[in-house]
Amino acid sequence: MSIISTDIQKAVHLLTNEELVAIPTETVYGLAGNIYSEKAVKRIFSTKKRPFFNPLIVHIASAKALQTMTTHIPEKAKLLADAFWPGSMTLVLKKNEKIPDMITAGKDTVAIRVPNHPVTLALLKQLPFPLAAPSANPFGSISPTKPEHVESYFKNDILQVLDGGACSNGIESTIIGFEKETPVIFRLGALALEDIEAVVGSVSIKNKKEESPDAPGMLARHYAPSTQTLLVDDVASEAKKHSTKKVGVLVFKESLNNSSLTEIILSDNGSMQEAASKLYDSLHELDRQKLDIIIAERLPNNGLGKSMNDRLQRATFTI
Ligand code: AMP
Ligand code: MG
Repeated sequence: MSIISTDIQKAVHLLTNEELVAIPTETVYGLAGNIYSEKAVKRIFSTKKRPFFNPLIVHIASAKALQTMTTHIPEKAKLLADAFWPGSMTLVLKKNEKIPDMITAGKDTVAIRVPNHPVTLALLKQLPFPLAAPSANPFGSISPTKPEHVESYFKNDILQVLDGGACSNGIESTIIGFEKETPVIFRLGALALEDIEAVVGSVSIKNKKEESPDAPGMLARHYAPSTQTLLVDDVASEAKKHSTKKVGVLVFKESLNNSSLTEIILSDNGSMQEAASKLYDSLHELDRQKLDIIIAERLPNNGLGKSMNDRLQRATFTI
């Protein structure tokens, strides 16, 4: 029997009883549990096979709850929360003693987000506790953007995937931390850098492990299909080199018009937003086809293209 269901009351019941539920957000599906339940939080890590050094994002219904979890909120964090919540931005702030150490991997900061999805906002409003929710995929594999992706990963491990349809943004949130009072991007994501800079001025990006020991979990290899995947600028000439193999290609907007290839176009009309929303689903789809190799085209390196290139770089071998 399918574990996918739209029943919010069932999710409330399971979460209240320290069980896990996969929840929809506008970025990707999350594997959610009560942040104050040690049992639930441990199960998030064990179900995902996620290393304990990798902290979890806390999901809340409204920015009002920030005061109850943090010791200090920089002025620019308030501006960002006002501008982008509910939305695809996570803020990393100094935590207070109520936040369990397991959530933050022992760090003195906590990552917090108000997701912009009506089903999960309705769920959060009914719960007397916030939800810890990393992406609902086994550690290192492609993030889920449809309930069926989660079902195929975890049908034997959890009792419900709360169905909220396909994720509209389709890549993870942009994570912003603070050095003193200054915002720093720890992870590029579904909120474009340009939009953030329009609110708080220019910000630096420290999303590589060596650049920022403050952003654990930003591993070089992540989000990976099980099929060998390459990231290139010129897909057509790379495909030629592999003409004896079963080749899948993932292109931004132009078809290669080559019927011997399995091709997915991210957005015919060149919309970055559409491309982002289809990125992971397309990788899931190509991965299912048992190809010998997947060749992905590097996107224009601005707006959401920058975030998608970051994900593709971690998912692939760059040549
Ligand atoms: P996921 O929930 O799988 O999208 O991953 C959450 C990511 O948030 C982690 O891999 C970290 O990079 C980041 N994160 C969570 N908490 C913190 C924190 N306290 N400080 C810095 N980065 C964090
Ligand atoms: Mg993840």
